[in-house]
Amino acid sequence: DSVAIRADQKSYSYDQLASSALRISSLLCSNDLKTTSEKTKNENSAVLAGGCGARIGIVAKPSFEFVAGVLGTWFSGCIAVPLALSYPESELLHVMHDSDISMVLSTEDYREVLQNVASKSGAKFSLIPPVPNVSSETTVFDQSQAEKMDGQRGEDPALIVYTSGTTGKPKGVVHTHKSIDAQVEFMPKFSVRGIWQRWRESYPVNGNRAGEAITAFTGVPTMYTRLIQGYEAMDTELQAASASAAKQLRLMMCGSSALPLPVMQQWETITGHRLLERYGMTEFVMAISNPLRGARKAGTVGNPLPGVQVKIAEDESGSDAAGVGEICVKSPSLFKEYWKLPKVTKDSFTADGFFKTGDTGKQDEDGYYIILGRTSADIMKVGGYKLSALEIESVLLEHPAVAECCVLGLPDKDYGDAVSAIIVLEEEAKRDQEKSKPVLSLQELCTWAKDKLAPYKLPTRLFLWDSLPRNAMGKAARLLKGWHNQDRRG
Ligand code: ATP
Ligand code: MG
Repeated sequence: DSVAIRADQKSYSYDQLASSALRISSLLCSNDLKTTSEKTKNENSAVLAGGCGARIGIVAKPSFEFVAGVLGTWFSGCIAVPLALSYPESELLHVMHDSDISMVLSTEDYREVLQNVASKSGAKFSLIPPVPNVSSETTVFDQSQAEKMDGQRGEDPALIVYTSGTTGKPKGVVHTHKSIDAQVEFMPKFSVRGIWQRWRESYPVNGNRAGEAITAFTGVPTMYTRLIQGYEAMDTELQAASASAAKQLRLMMCGSSALPLPVMQQWETITGHRLLERYGMTEFVMAISNPLRGARKAGTVGNPLPGVQVKIAEDESGSDAAGVGEICVKSPSLFKEYWKLPKVTKDSFTADGFFKTGDTGKQDEDGYYIILGRTSADIMKVGGYKLSALEIESVLLEHPAVAECCVLGLPDKDYGDAVSAIIVLEEEAKRDQEKSKPVLSLQELCTWAKDKLAPYKLPTRLFLWDSLPRNAMGKAARLLKGWHNQDRRG
């Protein structure tokens, strides 16, 4: 009877969860889903060795239904493929086709869209059954069922999660039951007002809290940027209530892309929280983290988590200053393989079993890891120097007229790469710009930045855009082929 899940201010018991998951499991078992095509079988034979291995797409807000859907899928020996609601239809179809989804489970709110997409991709469709009423006398889940489940765990694939698709088409990352060890707290979606409000409800000025208090928060850097903008737009009274509430959370974390220093500093000024920055990837979830207790060092992602080994592979050109190279990770949470991409999987591992992350990094004097960027694209080669786009972005963001910024190397015949900055102006500067008062020129920007950046790191090209293209994870799509050629201002 005890509470298994709290979501949307409702509580659900373990019996309700088990009962719901069992219903989903028998629904899946009664549909003939084992007819996985021979083609897929050959391409990913290891994946299909355990359980029936059919892929089940799950579409639901973070909620009871989502957890029940995943558990029910596992009870039936199938693999869960969470589908992002933010995907455009073409991407949804790509993922459904790529993972060869047999059936899509969704909640009522997405029935229409999903039924349509499922029928286009030849998958079956079913609603997740409503939350069951369970009387406290019945035992829904007994020991023998638990033992049956145990047999399916371990090395069997449990989940295929798709990467953000920053560098190419999203890749299906296969996680086993063993490599999954995650924790959650749910909000249905990211909303600046909603989050500030939840914090104020958690820690109200008058002390009358409604419901459970939020104690920890994790977000990507763009979320913190937006939360700061939201805070700045509040009146003084609301600001005071919001800041005081945020201060009372136990922990605030950040990851998924580089946290710019000015964002970290502003956040600390407003909320008193020094963000705990971590380094993670879909492929191993989390591997390197700043400490909970101890120094959280700005610009670094901290130290390997317990059980994780990290090494920095030498650059093949050998021209780097000592200690800069590709970050390689060995971890119990490491994924098994890329779905139907055996060659990519093979090329992603070193001979001694480390996963090659594709990110370049180094250690600082205290052994903390610093991520310099993607080996391929965030590292520009300017006249023989290797520069990190992330470092330059972090500096340019401190300029008062700059709201968002993306630095990349554009081809240059003399230097190899030309340091190029794409800048989105702050609202006020944008308005001045529209009144044809020029606000920011390349020369001005460089004069301002010359005490902060070595001469060869200063941008030589400047573009002012209305917004930066970002993918669903809020990452600036620096790497999407050719996007810098589009005229975004037009
Ligand atoms: P794809 O693999 O499809 O190109 P992706 O790599 O962006 O997409 P994710 O697995 O969501 O998909 O992101 C992992 C990447 O995010 C890492 O390889 C790294 O480049 C970046 N990253 C994560 N945390 C940090 C951090 N704290 N600082 C800098 N970069 C980070
Ligand atoms: Mg990646």
